[in-house]
Amino acid sequence: MRIEENLKKITKELPDSVKLVAVSKTHPPEVIMKAYDAGHRIFGESKAQEMIPKQESLPEDIQWHLVGHLQSNKVKYIAPFIALIHSVDSLKLLKVINKEGRKNNRKIPCLLQIHIAKESSKFGLSFEACCELLESESFSSMEHVMIHGLMGMATFTDDHQQVRDEFRALKSYFDEIKNRYFSDQSSFSETSMGMSDDYQIGIEEGSTMVRIGSAIFGNR
Ligand SMILES: *Cc1c(COP(=O)(O)O)cnc(C)c1O
Repeated sequence: MRIEENLKKITKELPDSVKLVAVSKTHPPEVIMKAYDAGHRIFGESKAQEMIPKQESLPEDIQWHLVGHLQSNKVKYIAPFIALIHSVDSLKLLKVINKEGRKNNRKIPCLLQIHIAKESSKFGLSFEACCELLESESFSSMEHVMIHGLMGMATFTDDHQQVRDEFRALKSYFDEIKNRYFSDQSSFSETSMGMSDDYQIGIEEGSTMVRIGSAIFGNR
């Protein structure tokens, strides 16, 4: 019951243009079904190995988003069904995704994860490395991935101004990359930023996709 209320409350706060990814990691299928029965269809998991059994046991019209770090050797398990990979952080990983996309005869939707936080522990490409990837010959020959935008995680801090500055940087990287490499592609349109503690700031700074876990499902 509380899950349905949380979803309603958050959905009401989001502009129509912002998609809500309900991050269900650590929660069992019966908890996910409460959000599903309330009408929600986009769910995020941070680990492929946790997503796979959930995908197998839950309704087929769920759109599964991978939001956490993805290991190359796990790509093949999610390639048949994944709706969006938010966390592409190397050319090597993108090559594997492209290969598995070919095997499954589909273009796999991806976001490039950019490192915007102060912490060194968070994954992601620098803006420069991201441009290098997009300018590489191997990227230009990939036919089975589709880059829909960028994702970033802000520093874990109470300093709202710092979070805002990091999100603002991500949005400016998005604009610049759109301009340089995707100006004629309407599919490059997403900036995935904002979690339970900072999604309002994310939206104010131009997020098109928020990834919210604990504010929907409770603490993990
Ligand atoms: C867990 C996770 C989220 C959701 O975090 P909450 O603080 O529970 O909203 C969002 N994005 C990523 C990459 C995550 O790993």
